[in-house]
Amino acid sequence: MRLSRVLRVSAVVVAAGLALAACGGGSSTSGSSGSTNVVSKAKNDKKLTIGIKFDQPGLGLKTADGKYVGFDVDVATYIAKQLGVDASGITWKEAQSAQREDLIKKGDVDFIVASYSITDARKKVVSFAGPYFVAAQDLLVRQDNTDITGPESLTGNKKLCSVKGSTPAQNIQKKYAQKVQLLERAKYTDCVTSLLSGEVDAMTTDNVILAGYAAQYPGKLKLVGKGFTTENYGVGFKLGDTETQTAINAAITKMESDGSWEASLKTNVGPSGFTIPAVPAITEK
Ligand code: GLU
Repeated sequence: MRLSRVLRVSAVVVAAGLALAACGGGSSTSGSSGSTNVVSKAKNDKKLTIGIKFDQPGLGLKTADGKYVGFDVDVATYIAKQLGVDASGITWKEAQSAQREDLIKKGDVDFIVASYSITDARKKVVSFAGPYFVAAQDLLVRQDNTDITGPESLTGNKKLCSVKGSTPAQNIQKKYAQKVQLLERAKYTDCVTSLLSGEVDAMTTDNVILAGYAAQYPGKLKLVGKGFTTENYGVGFKLGDTETQTAINAAITKMESDGSWEASLKTNVGPSGFTIPAVPAITEK
């Protein structure tokens, strides 16, 4: 009698354990088998969902015929390959600036390579590998503009466009908000449209992004060219996934040393006239 009760109780415990295991802990990553570790998911599933920008020429761009091109796309593809996932196993997902932390937290993406600056505030929510590139905040104006020469010249209630949840918008709010009228949009291409139409006087984000837009509109838009911050681009993923951090850092280092890093920058960023910077040291480890 007593033994059978013990057996029954154990059966219930085992069943409950199986049910929990079947749920995969409830934090499944983009249709994966349930692992929250990107390295093991890549190894087991041979698939990854990666967040990139869709509207930043030179970095992350979805073309009219549905291709994904740019330096961030190349970095992401290289990392995926090192983790055991071919390009055909990658699902690309748009990661707008303000959505990046949420996409990672919710497990909608495995990692993000999207001009994503490593900051202390973001490091409370997500983890980073890298940096793999260093940019600087700058300004883009219309070709005929002569009075905007740097952030200090954003006076007289000038209208400036940037993107919600981006470090350049936050920097402007903190340092220059009294003098300038900041309009925050979802994507940088929204700012480009406003700048071309005359709705705003300038737009701000990282120089490498702005150089890509300037090259798209020769004779219409120009980069001011005085970087005023340091933006260390990192690969973002779930907070505390140290195995993934180590693996991604190794992939970045390999990409830099085998020539692929420079080759990708020359192809994707070179045509905009942007000077390719030196390889940065890995800080996130
Ligand atoms: N690097 C900056 C950031 O992470 C600006 C570029 C962007 O919004 O993607 O916020």
